[in-house]
Amino acid sequence: MLPNHLPNEPDLHRDIRRGIRQLCARFPDSYWRDLDRDQAYPTDFVRAMTEAGWLAVLIPEEFGGAGLGVTEASIILEEIHCAGGNAAACHAQMYVMGTLLRHGSNAQKEQYLPAIASGELRMQAFGVTEPDAGTDTTKIRTTATRDGDHYRIRGQKIWISRAQHSDLLLLLARTTPLDQVAKPTHGLSIFLIDLRMAVGNGLTIEPVEVMMNHHTTQLFFDDLLVPAENLIGEEGKGFRYVLDGMNAERILIAAECIGDGYWFVDRATTYANERVVFDRPIGQNQGIQFPIARAYVNIRAADLMRYDAAARFDAGQPCGAEANMAKLLAADASWEAANVTLQTYGGFGFAKEYDVERKFRETRLYQVAPISTNLILSYVGQHLLGMPRSF
Ligand SMILES: Cc1cc2nc3c(=O)[nH]c(=O)nc-3n(C[C@H](O)[C@H](O)[C@H](O)COP(=O)(O)OP(=O)(O)OC[C@H]3O[C@@H](n4cnc5c(N)ncnc54)[C@H](O)[C@@H]3O)c2cc1C
Repeated sequence: MLPNHLPNEPDLHRDIRRGIRQLCARFPDSYWRDLDRDQAYPTDFVRAMTEAGWLAVLIPEEFGGAGLGVTEASIILEEIHCAGGNAAACHAQMYVMGTLLRHGSNAQKEQYLPAIASGELRMQAFGVTEPDAGTDTTKIRTTATRDGDHYRIRGQKIWISRAQHSDLLLLLARTTPLDQVAKPTHGLSIFLIDLRMAVGNGLTIEPVEVMMNHHTTQLFFDDLLVPAENLIGEEGKGFRYVLDGMNAERILIAAECIGDGYWFVDRATTYANERVVFDRPIGQNQGIQFPIARAYVNIRAADLMRYDAAARFDAGQPCGAEANMAKLLAADASWEAANVTLQTYGGFGFAKEYDVERKFRETRLYQVAPISTNLILSYVGQHLLGMPRSF
């Protein structure tokens, strides 16, 4: 396997890599390939990750977790991808955690965090996107209306992944109508929904089949009653709270892309060295060698931006720009590496048994989700470079 760590990496990070590699060795390519064929959830893998405590690294020690940062969480996810796996089945617990940690009440933390840390409760679903609003989050139409000591939730969400494999959902809903707020980002609130109670009592979940094994769904809320104590933080401030979570998500997804990128380059290099055509390894041809080398260079560069963004996040500094740029660079680099690897494998790249086409499909998602490349560029153009707002 290619060295994928930076020079002078702290012992803790090396230990995390070693631990995840050992765990992932129990889940070889064939495990992921079979799941992909059957569109099945990696239950055994997620259980092993939970039992080993890896999904609880962001939970403070006083609540049963490891009390580590997004940097360490990102290394865990990177290593899963580097080993040929797909952390999408369980990564949300990492990136939604910040919202609960930073904005949840003590009572909420005491109620949920120890159970999440032990694996008794799964918090794997994050509900923001809606069919009509798309990326324009402030236009969401799902409403939460106060009704005594409850909120009444109505509306629809799409692309809510893992809702059928989670006990808790972090939901964004509008509590004050758009035409009654000073700014469109005001009047949105975050709720912790207990899916075990909600399904069949105002919430319906329908799976949505996609091009990779992803377990995404649409949600229909028809007067779901949620206890008022499940509101996270203050009513109306939810957009600000999710932005924190979104920065963590971008950094963590960047790390997954980087792991994919290293996986692709490793496979492409090995194949280019072994495959002999015209009496020479195909990697001897610079038309094959240079694109692989370039893909590697781009992954290493994206990796630096990932560490920069993660360090800022962990230090509590503003990191929106770095998190977005890390996500863009890493998603581009992994997609480039995926293309190059498919090309290097020639016809065999399309054969399922080599896993290249599976990882190719999986890594393509990150050009679009959780934020599309265009939207990152518009953020950079407008907010960092001061060019005119385009929408
Ligand atoms: C498999 C999968 C899993 C997902 N999981 C979750 C989840 O768990 N929770 C959740 O809340 N969401 C989830 N999403 C949703 C995901 O975050 C959105 O798909 C993504 O943010 C893009 O939004 P959209 O699909 O509505 O695209 P749209 O907003 O409809 O945009 C369509 C295209 O137009 C481009 N575009 C739009 N506006 C502009 C503009 N002003 N300038 C330039 N280009 C523009 C976009 O870049 C995009 O390429 C998931 C999506 C997928 C496919």
